[in-house]
Amino acid sequence: MKALYFEKPGIENLKIGDVKEPKNGLKIKIIKAGFNPLDYNLISGNIIYNVNPMPHIPGSEVLGIAMEDGKNIKKGDRVIVYGKIFDNNCDMCFSGNEQLCYNGGIWGVITDGGYSEYISIGEQNIFRVPENLDDNTAVSIGIGALTAYRALKKANPELHKKVLIYGMGNTGIFTAQLAKYMGLDVYALSRKNMPDIKTFKEIPGDLKADIVINPLGGDLFSDSLKHVKRKGKIITYGILNGRFSSMDIAGIYTNEIEIYGSTGGSRLDLYELLNIMGTHKFSLPVYKEYSLWDIKDAFNDFKNRENGRIIFNL
Ligand SMILES: [Zn+2]
Repeated sequence: MKALYFEKPGIENLKIGDVKEPKNGLKIKIIKAGFNPLDYNLISGNIIYNVNPMPHIPGSEVLGIAMEDGKNIKKGDRVIVYGKIFDNNCDMCFSGNEQLCYNGGIWGVITDGGYSEYISIGEQNIFRVPENLDDNTAVSIGIGALTAYRALKKANPELHKKVLIYGMGNTGIFTAQLAKYMGLDVYALSRKNMPDIKTFKEIPGDLKADIVINPLGGDLFSDSLKHVKRKGKIITYGILNGRFSSMDIAGIYTNEIEIYGSTGGSRLDLYELLNIMGTHKFSLPVYKEYSLWDIKDAFNDFKNRENGRIIFNL
């Protein structure tokens, strides 16, 4: 089968070639793949830990068609991959937290991913997509929407509470749409103007939110403390602007602020999310679609694109 692979990281080292078809699960024909910061960083060589096997096929977010019957999945089903590999054999897995499995990792990093004509993966990692979802939204669920959903769930949101979201990338947009679905009052820090969301290029000093979702990290993280209400919650799931932040710890305890980390989501989260997305209107802006085999052109666009995501077609 045709696949993209590299023997050492770097976009210049990415090759298109014939590789052996994998046979360790259910066969899926790939029809679309997402281009995430994760994929970008993996190909660029910014993620080097645990990349396996070598040569390596990247790609951690795909939409495909099942080519054979499984126990629950039927041949012809439109499916996505739950992107965490897990052993189902540790206390994290036993408690339904596969995303935290001690022996697991990210599909496409610790295993070959989906930038290829076919993949083969165990049925425990395959989920059927509801009919009403268009292909481009569906391919964006496995990482972006799932991360957004778990982050919101962690905040245990109540109707009409104020949520402030930092950044309107893929995950931020899904967070905003899901927060609206949950009946929250949504505010966002973003350079872009988003329809139906109150966006600010700079957050007003008097804005106090019940929930702040801040995946940006760096010095912007301490800003969350200024914009969260007493007894409010701060959720983080990323370090886009840096790993370290200095903050006034007194502000945390004197206001009884709760800070939560969130990463990806569990299979139960994905199951719940697909049920929600199957009955309500969700969509993500697309910047441009490319053939997967033209990934080098897409690479240049990745950093310069203004709004929306890059999708690969096969
Ligand atoms: Zn485990």
